[in-house]
Amino acid sequence: MFRFKVTKSSKKSRARLGVLKTAHGEVETPAFVGVATLGDIKTLSSDEAKTTGLQMTISNTFHLHLRPGEEVVAKGGGLNKFANLPFPTMTDSGGFQVFSLGFGFDSENSKIAKSRYQTKIAASAVPKNIKITDSGVHFSSPIDGRKIFLGPKESIAIQEKIGADIILAFDECPPPNADRKYLVASLARTHRWAAECLRAKKTSQAIYGIVQGSRFKDLRVRSAKAIGNMPFDGFAVGGEFGIGNAAMERMLGWVLDELPEEKPRHLLGVGYPDDILPMIRAGIDTFDCIAPTHYGRRGIAFTSSGRVDLTKTKYLSEHKALDKKCRCPVCADYTRAYLSHLIRAKEITGMRLLTEHNLHFINALTAACREKIRRGAL
Ligand SMILES: [Zn+2]
Repeated sequence: MFRFKVTKSSKKSRARLGVLKTAHGEVETPAFVGVATLGDIKTLSSDEAKTTGLQMTISNTFHLHLRPGEEVVAKGGGLNKFANLPFPTMTDSGGFQVFSLGFGFDSENSKIAKSRYQTKIAASAVPKNIKITDSGVHFSSPIDGRKIFLGPKESIAIQEKIGADIILAFDECPPPNADRKYLVASLARTHRWAAECLRAKKTSQAIYGIVQGSRFKDLRVRSAKAIGNMPFDGFAVGGEFGIGNAAMERMLGWVLDELPEEKPRHLLGVGYPDDILPMIRAGIDTFDCIAPTHYGRRGIAFTSSGRVDLTKTKYLSEHKALDKKCRCPVCADYTRAYLSHLIRAKEITGMRLLTEHNLHFINALTAACREKIRRGAL
């Protein structure tokens, strides 16, 4: 079961309110989607994750395929039951991770890619650890070295067994420093693979197509038109778009103009606090990002007055709430000094508490955007 309804569109921007319905519940959009790579939001139980306002998670096909294997997840009743996830779930296609192995970029590429633009990857470039063919990608498992092949059919078959509510088409996520010729060839491959994914899917799971095209307007428009015309249930926007919010908004403007209004739009891998308002204003319904959980475990809190790096000694003398404007239990009951002490001592509890606060903070920020759209103020 999958339905999406836009319930209100902003008159002042392209922001919109909506409801996404799946067999595992409803999501009020715009919504942050928590990254549950292996099934879990690291350090939290599913119920704890839900109390932060989290409405949905995205898990990782590549990692779940490597371990424990999709058969184990299927025998456990599918992702929701196996991982006790009490809300709608998504899986990515695995493409991003496979291609990351090849050209060696990681999941934070959009924010730290600046220096990587300086060395260009040409159309003829051959990645070191993977072999890309027209039917998919050959690579060795980073865990035990066994040879694996992943293509559109394989990705869909794995995602069907994992059994999330929403699955993603297998795409090539080109490296941020790919040259234009490389991108043109890669985009054609992604579009062919999108059609193959639609043909391969046998379940009633919803499937999103992925728009690529990097930082080039004509390629983004070409991709949005091609993918937007295929009978997907929704669309995800992936890949590189340049540096900063202005580049993101410009790219989303090109892409969302071409996609059908009535279907949901997901932005892959973007969701720092500063990104949220611009992407919602541009018309994004859901988005996922590792930032709140990744930084939380490393002692960095997102607050209403900016980032607070609790690994620094100065916070040991701040016997006050982490963020006095935040309504989460961590800010109600713990001080910066104590949290800093836990983080500096590498206590798991410190990582857990900051993960909880950061998720609460991002979800509250997104909820505030929904409220603004409701009031006609965004
Ligand atoms: Zn808090």
